[in-house]
Amino acid sequence: MADFDTPELKEYPVIPHIQEGVMAHSKPFVAKEEFQEQLGFPGELVDNWEQVAIDKMGELTGKYRSLQVFLDSCVKCGACTDKCHYYLGTTDPKNMPVARQDLFRKVYRRYFTFAGKHFPKLVGATDLTKEVLDDWYSYFHQCSQCRRCSVYCPYGIDTAEISMAAREVMDCIGVGQKYCNEIIGKVYKIGNNLGLPQPALADTLEGLEEDIEDDTGVAVRLPLDEKGADVLVVTPSADFFAEPHVDGLMGYAKVFHEAGISWTLSSHASEAANFGMFIGSYENMRKVSLRIREAALDLGVKRIIFGECGHAWRVAYSFLNTLAGPFDFLDPKYPVPMHIMEFTYDLIQRKGITLDKSANDDMRLTYHDSCNVARASRMGPKPGGQFVLPREVIKASCNHFFDMPQDTIHEATYCCGGGGGLLTDDLMEIRVKGALPRMEALKHVVEEHGVTHMAAICAICKSQFAKVMPYYGFSMDSIVSVHQLVSNAIVLGNKQ
Ligand code: SF4
Ligand code: SF4
Repeated sequence: MADFDTPELKEYPVIPHIQEGVMAHSKPFVAKEEFQEQLGFPGELVDNWEQVAIDKMGELTGKYRSLQVFLDSCVKCGACTDKCHYYLGTTDPKNMPVARQDLFRKVYRRYFTFAGKHFPKLVGATDLTKEVLDDWYSYFHQCSQCRRCSVYCPYGIDTAEISMAAREVMDCIGVGQKYCNEIIGKVYKIGNNLGLPQPALADTLEGLEEDIEDDTGVAVRLPLDEKGADVLVVTPSADFFAEPHVDGLMGYAKVFHEAGISWTLSSHASEAANFGMFIGSYENMRKVSLRIREAALDLGVKRIIFGECGHAWRVAYSFLNTLAGPFDFLDPKYPVPMHIMEFTYDLIQRKGITLDKSANDDMRLTYHDSCNVARASRMGPKPGGQFVLPREVIKASCNHFFDMPQDTIHEATYCCGGGGGLLTDDLMEIRVKGALPRMEALKHVVEEHGVTHMAAICAICKSQFAKVMPYYGFSMDSIVSVHQLVSNAIVLGNKQ
């Protein structure tokens, strides 16, 4: 199955002994010239790369105050050391969050602090060498930017932000990651990560409409580029294509149908994902986000609703107004943006849709909180809504729901192992090993409660789990979309 050993599922939790350097070989493919240049980065390692990198570090620490505070304030208390799923799954000490940060911090100290300039050995400061750069490329691509470590750090130091900065510095000297940069280029050229052009998208949606009608006898529309619709739905392109994502998309369509609200997808903004965040590039994140604004203006919609995608929701919830606002042309009655979970939850509360829970009686469910939703956003007006709303929608759609252990859910949730731009086959080993803590928590509810399926609201989590679950003895179709459950349970034709 693979040329590495899958970690053994243990009694949860066990903190492993360290094994130095065991993951030093793990590196993603480097982006070719064409993928670099379309994002405005040099095509290959520039001649004076050390100076360019140091200048960029200076620019970033000057621009992002938080980054400099994070680099200056670690007291080496060790609280974060056993909190990263990649350390727990690989045992490599450089996957401890504090050690990962130090790869960047030791260079920052050397060039930007008095002690590091004059007494480098005393403060653990080092020159930026090719060896250090190699370590950056390896270990900053073993961080899914999940922010779990920051929850346990008494100073709130966010390794994700350091990892984003390191990736941006590497892009600026010509050493970008193929997977992320190629995908961002596809969004610019075609509109989505999958490179699905408008005719193929239209064809796919037509096929889904036929599937729903064959299945239910009800004509439910999945409109594309429909001017004058009330709602623009921006969803990850995986929703158009892969299982179980596409079942979730059919769920959104059925909910809009029953609510009697006109909606549309857009071929121009046919991607909710925004990989600009993963590479730490504000400019690229902004360019991707602006397509949503352009589509909303062009179609004349009143609201924007995001589909099930974890980091897309973080970008939307936290940054969309700054990146692409103001959205003063939308209906001020609704939040900008809104999550599909808020929309469906609200309808359930108002009895605007009818759900027959028994339609999901073949499943016993648990729920995986996606990192970017859990630790970098909210849903609804109340704190913690991002934990409550998805669970309430699941419980309204099925009879059997069981949470995983408390220290693996909500704010303490473990990453799926494939986030932050790591969802590529060249990183399969780190993806499988990083999934270990989540798989152990899943095993717990499988044994305690006979759980058969895990629901999620993130395209990356769903793709990652479908791929790595078989390594741990679970079936690839035991991961489901939350709106897939809604789709199964919704009673069509009940509301007018
Ligand atoms: S942000 Fe997540 S992946 Fe990165 S070091 Fe922290 S816990 Fe690990
Ligand atoms: S928990 Fe925070 S202060 Fe403590 S070692 Fe980790 S990053 Fe440093």
